[in-house]
Amino acid sequence: MVNYTGNKTIASEILNKKGMVSNIERYAINDGFGLRTTVFLKGCPLRCKWCSNPETQKFNCEMVFFEDQCIGCGECVKLCRYGALDNGLKADRSICDKCYLREDAFSCTLKCYPQCRKIDGQEMTVKEVFDVVKRDIQFYHLSGGGVTISGGEPLAQPEFTLNLLQTFKQNYINTAIETCGYAREDDYEAIAPYLDMAFMDLKSADTVKHEEWTGASNASILNNIIVMDELSKEYGFDFIIRTPVIPGFNDSAHEIQSIGKFVTENCKNYKGMELLPYHKLGRGKYISLGRIYELEGLKAPSDEQMNELHKILINMGINLYQF
Ligand code: SF4
Ligand code: SF4
Ligand code: SF4
Repeated sequence: MVNYTGNKTIASEILNKKGMVSNIERYAINDGFGLRTTVFLKGCPLRCKWCSNPETQKFNCEMVFFEDQCIGCGECVKLCRYGALDNGLKADRSICDKCYLREDAFSCTLKCYPQCRKIDGQEMTVKEVFDVVKRDIQFYHLSGGGVTISGGEPLAQPEFTLNLLQTFKQNYINTAIETCGYAREDDYEAIAPYLDMAFMDLKSADTVKHEEWTGASNASILNNIIVMDELSKEYGFDFIIRTPVIPGFNDSAHEIQSIGKFVTENCKNYKGMELLPYHKLGRGKYISLGRIYELEGLKAPSDEQMNELHKILINMGINLYQF
């Protein structure tokens, strides 16, 4: 039986809090246990070269364009008052990047019937997000699933994320967060009581390499992993440390061993680790944003290579998960 109380008891200042949302994906199966709804928030402090969600990196809305669906009607050219489109296809992104500040922002998208030129991102209240998430509440209870807050980096919007988690928890919805670890320690402490599960990335134990490939040092991430490990015991949530395996960055035995060493030496309460093989699924999104995909020639690691890397962690006594 679904133990659902509705949202009447939640303070209106929480429900009315606004945040920037990139996308809400229903029926997700890789973002935690069971069937889930994943809320992708906008804004991330890192710039990982392999990022498969580049549309979530900036806080503001952006225009995306999927050329293969365009019927060439030319409406977008007529509607843009800033001369950013001269042939209806490629946009001058130096003009478009400021469009979110304009009164008639993204007018180019208004009459695009195939919806191949559209806006990524929208301001939503906690209540609006909750109204989408609660549609599948029966499925969460039947499958052991719930809601996952992802991004971007959820804690780049700390108050909004906290208020979302409070609202979900108050309505008996299982909660998870996917975080890159690059956020304030205080913000992890604030959300911990409202979590059932947390995924945190540990991309490399090597500070120099981490900075080179993500744009930031791993120092605060290493600290936050230890903090979250302790908080997971205090509040009883499942804590999973995730490593995306990126060829040329961290796919060597030495790199994975160093990550495993940090984890085994510093974490006592975590549930396990997950290795995520690099993929190219985000490549088309870079093109839709008018950006260059830097890792064009990179190949995904083979199953054999992933098995070898898994063995290293298993031999270090680490439990492995695959979601
Ligand atoms: S995003 Fe703004 S500037 Fe760019 S094409 Fe559309 S309306 Fe013009
Ligand atoms: S309005 Fe849409 S379909 Fe028409 S030319 Fe522009 S992008 Fe293509
Ligand atoms: S932390 Fe995640 S969302 Fe942020 S840039 Fe890296 S891969 Fe992208």
